[in-house]
Amino acid sequence: MLTEPLSALTARTLQACGATTSLDVAGGMEVVSPLTGETVASVTPQSAADAEAAVSRAAVAFRHWRMVPGPRRGELVRLFAEELRASKEDLGRMVSIEAGKSPSEGAGEVQEMIDICDFAVGLSRQLYGLTIATERPGHRMMETWHPLGVVGIITAFNFPCAPWCWNAALALVCGDPVVWKPSEKTPLTALACQAVFERAVERFGDDAPEGLSQVLVGGPALGEVLTDSPSVALISATGSTRMGRIVGPRVAERFGRCILELGGNNAGIVCPSADLDMALRAIAFGAMGTAGQRCTTMRRLFVHENIYDQIVPALQKAYASVSVGNPLETQALVGPLIDGAAFEAMQDALGEARALGGRVHGGARESVGPESAFYVKPALVEMPEQAGPVLRETFAPILYVMTYSDFDDVLEAHNAVGGGLSSSIFTTDLREMELFLSARGSDCGIANVNIGTSGAEIGGAFGGEKETGGGRESGSDAWRAYMRRATNTINYSRELPLAQGVVFDI
Ligand code: NAD
Repeated sequence: MLTEPLSALTARTLQACGATTSLDVAGGMEVVSPLTGETVASVTPQSAADAEAAVSRAAVAFRHWRMVPGPRRGELVRLFAEELRASKEDLGRMVSIEAGKSPSEGAGEVQEMIDICDFAVGLSRQLYGLTIATERPGHRMMETWHPLGVVGIITAFNFPCAPWCWNAALALVCGDPVVWKPSEKTPLTALACQAVFERAVERFGDDAPEGLSQVLVGGPALGEVLTDSPSVALISATGSTRMGRIVGPRVAERFGRCILELGGNNAGIVCPSADLDMALRAIAFGAMGTAGQRCTTMRRLFVHENIYDQIVPALQKAYASVSVGNPLETQALVGPLIDGAAFEAMQDALGEARALGGRVHGGARESVGPESAFYVKPALVEMPEQAGPVLRETFAPILYVMTYSDFDDVLEAHNAVGGGLSSSIFTTDLREMELFLSARGSDCGIANVNIGTSGAEIGGAFGGEKETGGGRESGSDAWRAYMRRATNTINYSRELPLAQGVVFDI
């Protein structure tokens, strides 16, 4: 049991991170913890004019930061990783308070930040381009990568800090200042991260200009300022497909760059040869973990008809026995939904599923917290076909289960939804495995074998296709999105041969 009110724990946690924000602003923006549904703080929201001023500061910072050598920029990120390590427990607790995650998931999110910082530090010495064969004698052709400009980062409530850091760590080593508009549901985690970052800046010294990293507290209107500002070279927006449909075209209108990380409708396929115990555990975590509020949560499951009677009763048992409760007070594996609207959306989806002949197991509200908190038993829904709510993302713990008999048909069904984020297959059959990963297999940005859909590592590029937005961030070569490429050709001869043999003698 907590020995102090949640608001006191919130204040203490923020203070430990070094944040000096006033948490009791009369008429301010209320921050509600999903753990209890109570208001834990009231903070000052920023205006559109504040957002514009932040972008201007970042644009000035860019002029300095782009000229600081990459490895030196990496040193700032290295120091930031040190500060994150020192504040891991506090930041993780902040995530639990604001997003309702378990301490282990909260700490895991901070670990992701540390991991991407470490990755970015190495990257700061590897921002290289190619030297390319040229057709002209006495010439050399190469490409160089330059800092891009101000990066606007918009993030969702369910991962209140890691996606910011996936972007910020790379942007900073690439020479770009960042302006962060976190979810209006989780501003405190952002303020805590900013305080931790400023500790690193303090140690780094004068090379870090003012305005290198800034946070904007407030709602979508502030995100729109970033979206529309010609001074923001890249918008990296994480959130719903609904938000991406607004942000994407607006950034395109001004020829800005966009990384869109939007909703998913992720599926698993369980084949006859699967290791069923392993599949069961992976599905349980993938579908129920974080109360179904991960972009990579498993939402659809296709089970081969020959093993349906083995795996579905076992899943029902796991669903019936999973512990639901306040993860800061109990060992519960499933925490709360973010708010009442999420609960309503879940109940609506279950109602639609029932009307289509779905058999719903679980899904009811659990009386484990105050009336103002929304805890639910995760729902397992046996569906006669892929229709209605199965075709869209409902951001809650609902797993729709369907049978299949033919492998080609299940691949078609797997891809027949709007989302294209994450996917997995459980099989020990090499052919099924390879087909799933092939050009006619899963059409998602993430395709896994014998692990679930969630829990990506930072080393790979993260993101998805179709209505997930097509963006990639984090590892691999995602850094290129934060830089601009120049192709340079140098003539070191005494002649002026033209490309393609063109003659133009004057
Ligand atoms: P949301 O779309 O409601 O909000 C996300 C962010 O966008 C918030 O900061 C919000 O203020 C901002 N926003 C909303 N409208 C905007 C507009 N018109 N212009 C600019 N900014 C705007 O999403 P949410 O409810 O916070 O998060 C859940 C959703 O995010 C789910 O769909 C989930 O799948 C998705 N998500 C995706 C990823 C990914 O990497 N693909 C990661 C986490 C969450």
